[in-house]
Amino acid sequence: MYVAGIDIGSVAAKFLILGEGGEVASYAVAETTPDVDRTAEEIRKRALDEAGLKLEDIKYMVSTGYGRYTVPFAQENRTEIICHATGVHSLFPSVRTIVDIGGQDSKVIRVDETGRVKNFTMNSKCAAGTGRFTEVMARALGIELSRWGEVVSSAENRAKISNICTVFAESEVISKIMQKVPINEILAGVCEAIVTRVYESVHRVGKVEPDVAFTGGVANNLGVRQVLQEKVGYPLLIPEIPQSTGALGAAYLARSYYLTQRKKGSS
Ligand code: ADP
Repeated sequence: MYVAGIDIGSVAAKFLILGEGGEVASYAVAETTPDVDRTAEEIRKRALDEAGLKLEDIKYMVSTGYGRYTVPFAQENRTEIICHATGVHSLFPSVRTIVDIGGQDSKVIRVDETGRVKNFTMNSKCAAGTGRFTEVMARALGIELSRWGEVVSSAENRAKISNICTVFAESEVISKIMQKVPINEILAGVCEAIVTRVYESVHRVGKVEPDVAFTGGVANNLGVRQVLQEKVGYPLLIPEIPQSTGALGAAYLARSYYLTQRKKGSS
């Protein structure tokens, strides 16, 4: 018995298959394109091929993410807040606060001991405090995202980035480059700016309660991890594939819906 979760994010689409015992059978990720149907079908095919499965082996599918309504083959769809909470709870049951920074939004979610959402806040209106901000700055500084951690770790100071707006912050970064401010210090300042922006929404969900998980594609960024860890003051629990928790949660929900239906059918 296999089930699947599909998360169509604004930047990346993810497909995750769970096996009979709830173990991950395969995972595929691809850039989200304007042809969402095709993106969804491609990652589904890749995940099925990797697990050596056929479409009919998947008994139930749940979609999530901003493109969740556009997935024609999913039986149900659920919000990314519920799916992230479910996915993180399945990995780290002790987590009470989730900080998720994705491609075009960031969220802070509080969950109870059963993984149920207590409250949440989401910024999807401004690129500051999202992966988009890191991409713009990486281009301006000529440094690949994957090298940020290494570069930031040698910075003794953090340059102050005063502008919140991504476009103005980019100009500020360029002017600091011209003023010969060391690149590692500018980068450290950029990481601080992202975390500060995300943190502004934290008070809206009350205080940060441990344990704290950091998820979303930006959790791969070692520079941002370092600053967030400092700000939170508790060790961060980070999944092995931080981008996958929405799809993981969707797959767990698919599993629970399928098992409930099967139980009803046999009684
Ligand atoms: P969404 O669900 O909104 O599409 P994701 O959670 O998939 O977003 O995150 C996508 C973002 O993660 C990208 O915009 C990129 O900035 C960032 N990202 C992905 N992989 C890495 C990496 N290895 N290092 C740094 N940032 C990354």
